[in-house]
Amino acid sequence: MPAQRHYPQRVDVAIVGSGPTAAAYARILSESAPEARIAMFEVGPTVSSPPGAHVKSIPEGADRARAQRASEGPGADAPKITSPAAMKSGKRLARPGTFLIEGEHTVPGEDGLPVAAMSSNVGGMGAHWTGACPRPGDSERITFLDDLDEILDDAERLLGVSRTAFENAPFGSVIVERLGAAVNAGRPPERRVQAMPLAVHRQGDGSLVWSGPDVIMGEATRSNPNFELFDESLVTKVLTADGRASGVEVRDLRTDSTHTVDARFVIVGADAFRTPQLLWASGIRPDALGRYLNDQTQVVFSSRLRDVSAPVVADETAGGLKVQSGVNWVPFTDALPFHIQVMQPDSSPVPVPEDDPLVPGSIVGLGMFLAKDLQHEDRVEFSDVDVDSYGMPAIRVHYRLTERDHEMLERARAAAIELAEAVGEPFDDTPFTLPLGSSLHYQGTTRMGDQDDGTSVCDTHSEVWDAPGVFVAGNNVIPTATACNPTLTSVALAIRGARHVAARLADAGSAVRNS
Ligand code: FAD
Repeated sequence: MPAQRHYPQRVDVAIVGSGPTAAAYARILSESAPEARIAMFEVGPTVSSPPGAHVKSIPEGADRARAQRASEGPGADAPKITSPAAMKSGKRLARPGTFLIEGEHTVPGEDGLPVAAMSSNVGGMGAHWTGACPRPGDSERITFLDDLDEILDDAERLLGVSRTAFENAPFGSVIVERLGAAVNAGRPPERRVQAMPLAVHRQGDGSLVWSGPDVIMGEATRSNPNFELFDESLVTKVLTADGRASGVEVRDLRTDSTHTVDARFVIVGADAFRTPQLLWASGIRPDALGRYLNDQTQVVFSSRLRDVSAPVVADETAGGLKVQSGVNWVPFTDALPFHIQVMQPDSSPVPVPEDDPLVPGSIVGLGMFLAKDLQHEDRVEFSDVDVDSYGMPAIRVHYRLTERDHEMLERARAAAIELAEAVGEPFDDTPFTLPLGSSLHYQGTTRMGDQDDGTSVCDTHSEVWDAPGVFVAGNNVIPTATACNPTLTSVALAIRGARHVAARLADAGSAVRNS
């Protein structure tokens, strides 16, 4: 019989989830409110060390595979995507480290999100991600936040973002030059083709380390005696008293016992499906909850670089990667409204064709991400009757591509061919549209707004309009239609919320001291 865990009776801040955005709250509060007592609850197990570390940092392949499987919750035994053929097979498959959402992913007559997925482990998807951290541009930006650039700067600090991780890639500059010649005209410097900012750092021996939520939490959190992380702990309810946050109900999955932890602030960073699910289960149901759900439709293609020969520079093996062409970026603009990644095969999150053994790195994958035409009707709904395998309200997804979405898809496919030709010779027959939900970048379901007009769930500090003291975190908070990878932005929004909570704790502390 596993030992009973001792959850605290009372904390200042309860954090639900342990992915990048939850980790950002823990870090900022540890830095700015070190006296605050913080408890973080994560439904999944600890799969890496320090907790939340990227699974790529697990040296042994078998151990890494075990950590991925332990992150796959109820989907651990399901087959996974391991090759381009599997990805294009039309089967519903998840990527290693993730599992497909349960429930009704596609309502008959709609497009649905057949391969929407999630992870259940300390670190969340942030222990499995690719670390691409582009900044939003043009219409992707949240115009009502004056400090957006400053919080994005701080998010880069927490995530350890580097622009030089692949600077030695022999084909990197060829790709940047060729793509730049095709698209740079008229763009400001920061939106020109460039190396992708990545949440990656090099160790003394030259090996690359991908930032997981362990990096975001940092020593400031780990050495904070007032911070505790509880894994295998499912938060089943956010508790409120007189309409404001009063704590959480948590089920210890090791002993199947239920506990109450009082808290002045509750932060829910439980992903874009399970954050609104938990609010729903808690009776916090603003009109916009679960609505404006959006995923970035993805088109993939590949190209063989023209006029390149085997690099004279020896392969540099870094974190299991042979650095050849690196990860390059064509930023989103309103004129060319796609976020485009051009990556060497082994760093691509979706399988692309095998590399050329004679000229390694000469075959590159192009990933085009599209911004959704946002719709109130695209939503995740929750049942008051049926439950998922965690016992939480069952999910139903309503999701359709609009006419505009279809037009943009056609444009993206044409642009993929143009860009593949700009760098070399197209390698695939035709650009492939991935099954909906493939991007793993689900947004909007607890979106931020600058006024409580029924189209948003939280205010500009991420505090739920009708539930003071309850904060939401994650890509679900992003209100705009972004095409770029969203984690940098959602970590930035979490930083903004965490600073606000720290200031409120300080105000309350001084009020108590002065009374
Ligand atoms: P998550 O990381 O999803 O974490 C949420 C956590 O909450 C989970 O651990 C979950 O178990 C926990 N939880 C849920 N419900 C409860 C509950 N009731 N009680 C307790 N715990 C709960 N993004 C990018 O920006 N760039 C990339 O290059 C990129 N590449 C990716 C590649 C892959 C293979 C994957 C899997 C993802 C990628 N992503 C990328 C997406 C990125 O990982 C997510 O945007 C990010 O992890 C979201 O952070 P989060 O804090 O909102 O939630």
